[in-house]
Amino acid sequence: MPKYVYDFTEGNKDLKDLLGGKGANLAEMTNLGLPVPPGFTITTEACRHFLTEGRLPDGLEEEISRHLSALEAKMGRRLGQADDPLLVSVRSGAKFSMPGMMETVLNIGLNDESVHGLAKQSSGNERFAWDSYRRLIQMFGKTVQGIDGELFDDALEALKAGRDDLDLEAADFQRLVETYKGIVRDQTGEDFPADPHRQMRMAVEAVFRSWNAPRAILYRRQERIPADLGTAVNVCSMVFGNCGMDSGTGVAFTRDPGTGHQGVYGDYLQNAQGEDVVAGIRNTLSLQELERIDKPVYDELMQIMATLENHYRDLCDIEFTVERGKLWMLQTRVGKRTAGAAFRIAVQLAEQGLISMDEAVTRVTGDQLAQLMFPRFAGDADAKKIAKGMNASPGAAVGKAVFSSERAVELADRGENVILVRRETNPDDLAGMIAAQGVLTSRGGKTSHAAVVARGMGKTCVCGAEELEVSTQDRSFTAPGGVVVNEGDVISIDGSTGAVYLGEVPVVDSQVVEYFEGSGDHEDELVRAVDRVMRHADGMRRLEVRANADNAEDAARARRFGAQGIGLCRTEHMFLGDRRQLVEELILAETDAERERALEALRPLQQGDFVELFREMKGLPVTIRLLDPPLHEFLPDCTELSVKVALAGDRADEKDLKLLAAVKRLHEQNPMLGLRGVRLGLVIPGLFAMQVRAIAEAAKAVEGTRAEIMIPLVAAVQELESVRDEARAILAETGVEALVGTMIEVPRAALTAGQIAEAAEFFSFGTNDLTQMTWGFSRDDVEAAFFSRYLELGVFGVSPFESLDRDGVGRLVRLAAEEGRRTRPDIKLGICGEHGGDPDSIHFCHETGLDYVSCSPFRIPVARLEAGRAALVRTDSDTR
Ligand code: PEP
Ligand code: MG
Repeated sequence: MPKYVYDFTEGNKDLKDLLGGKGANLAEMTNLGLPVPPGFTITTEACRHFLTEGRLPDGLEEEISRHLSALEAKMGRRLGQADDPLLVSVRSGAKFSMPGMMETVLNIGLNDESVHGLAKQSSGNERFAWDSYRRLIQMFGKTVQGIDGELFDDALEALKAGRDDLDLEAADFQRLVETYKGIVRDQTGEDFPADPHRQMRMAVEAVFRSWNAPRAILYRRQERIPADLGTAVNVCSMVFGNCGMDSGTGVAFTRDPGTGHQGVYGDYLQNAQGEDVVAGIRNTLSLQELERIDKPVYDELMQIMATLENHYRDLCDIEFTVERGKLWMLQTRVGKRTAGAAFRIAVQLAEQGLISMDEAVTRVTGDQLAQLMFPRFAGDADAKKIAKGMNASPGAAVGKAVFSSERAVELADRGENVILVRRETNPDDLAGMIAAQGVLTSRGGKTSHAAVVARGMGKTCVCGAEELEVSTQDRSFTAPGGVVVNEGDVISIDGSTGAVYLGEVPVVDSQVVEYFEGSGDHEDELVRAVDRVMRHADGMRRLEVRANADNAEDAARARRFGAQGIGLCRTEHMFLGDRRQLVEELILAETDAERERALEALRPLQQGDFVELFREMKGLPVTIRLLDPPLHEFLPDCTELSVKVALAGDRADEKDLKLLAAVKRLHEQNPMLGLRGVRLGLVIPGLFAMQVRAIAEAAKAVEGTRAEIMIPLVAAVQELESVRDEARAILAETGVEALVGTMIEVPRAALTAGQIAEAAEFFSFGTNDLTQMTWGFSRDDVEAAFFSRYLELGVFGVSPFESLDRDGVGRLVRLAAEEGRRTRPDIKLGICGEHGGDPDSIHFCHETGLDYVSCSPFRIPVARLEAGRAALVRTDSDTR
């Protein structure tokens, strides 16, 4: 039978899969000799069993009992013991941090008897004991028994009647306990369970169940956390931050998670418990004030934080409690940080010699780099600044103010940009936060729910803008000077400075983009950090990075951003605009002579385009794909043309009539599976030859050009052979050297890659079409039609059009790469579908041994970084 329960002294930080992040790190701190309240962790394996079988695994309850007995022996009191109760917290803790998404129950072990014991043991502090008891019933009722939390909140508010929570007395809380017990009876038909062991068992099961709470599911999907990991449960002896002014609770970071700057940073709340800080019941004090309040505790905390940062060799965030002057560590983990801070910290730690540059590169991600490439505000000279809050998560966001999560989702679904404005957010606001461009709150610090979650998502957030009076009910807020902002009014928020503006503030490119563009301030600390990381990643990566570009402007940007060539130039864009006329003539040609005339007219135009592209790429390889889409895409819309012809009646234009006939003739039920790609080349004489000649002449005109000719949609080697022979003949005639290769984007091509490689000098995986045809998903329709349902059902965790489906499409890619290489050992292999710019897919390409990835110019830096990371880490799942 597996071991399901680990004492804190038995685990360590590397056991996150089994003990969850919180459990593993509590064990690590225990082993470091730091003051951690004793306890034990129930494994994720037990949770998975519970969720699949619907019951706790055999033997688990006995194992828990044994560990509880050991804990009781260590603490010298029993769970819920009437005269001196041991109380425990039961907390969730998954492998990846999911802040506030799952459940926690504190003060397990209290009942009508032990509440007196607790009062006695806390020097007669009756107020504290009754407050603890009411918290238990409230949390237990809400999370374990599923009672609407507002019932408890309303009862508390009614009792407070405008008083601060510190003004409430023991008798108030005692009365509240009775009210709460009444709520439990009304709502469940049963009394609040008095048996401490039953309380504990029910709490453990509730925490397991909370893995599948809707907000947890939504968070996992957003953060791409696998759905089947399960959560561990930590049972920890209670320590109390709410037993007087010499007690308190806080959260802290070993350096600033917003900027990465060195120096401890955090919030402290006197006479309070952990959840009070996050919920923002009172405004917190800065950590520096703790030095004034309790110097010995402050000094010890500073020392522990230094120990943790050195031990983890990274920014740590911690939760701690002070119980009557004694410091306790309740949690630590490698802390979330903004994208900019991630780069700065990684490079600082490398420069301090704490980590290597290899490790520094693995500590940042392509997604973070992409965030740094977002625009920022142009300056606020003309904008009306109406308030200032805390700069909780950087970026610039503009949108209509909305005051509820539902409204945020509703407007965002209609394509509107919104800013979610709340007094403070809670986990139920998650959907709205995802939908919004940014989040603005009037309460709470940089460690509040809004700030932590927004930072994790890379979403702009200004929090704690206390000058704002937010009224959710009236759907408006009031700023100083009587400025009223109603729902739908546009506001702009700056997550880097904390400024809130009325109206729309114009945005400009980021410094990091300017750096990649070759301008900007290279002395800036962030730019310097990005530069160091990029140089190192470039030095380590094996994959080349090319761009998908089909005009000179994109090609130029691609090269500035570090592209090593063009991996896909789609020539169809060169058939649009005022060239449509010529394409129509080609399609309408009735004789060979007419067709040749049309092609001859197109050729110099194409050649001109290629010349521009080759000039920009200055001798770097340029892969040009011959025409791919069905020809009717270049003709007018059938319905519009039919109406035009019908309205004109007898006076209808001769050409319109011919065009309409052609449109009807070319109509296909499934155009994506119809006359396109190589099939066009085989059916329309002279089309591909014209393109190849234009490429060859352009290559001749620009010295040093390395052109590669790519044939799309090949399924059989025979298709490729005939087009290749025609291309080779033209190349020989013009005296130009160019590789001739194919896209692998039809499953049959992947399955017969060994044969196809006989005729292809390179393969480029067109994973857009390959995904479409492997899954049988229309790439233009399905994402909007039903992917959200598929994601909900867990058919896949992320759209296969976004991130390469390793099991299916990936298998075809691997097979084709292997068979292609077997036939032609020096065959060049690349990818040019959208996946070429997706981090996880880039790691797959590295693992599969491809030679390059090709992506849109703006993604080039991300691809360079991820290619470097792929060469340095086997999987990035641990660095999330
Ligand atoms: C592909 O199918 O992956 C591809 C790159 O071609 P396109 O997107 O132009 O069909
Ligand atoms: Mg394609």
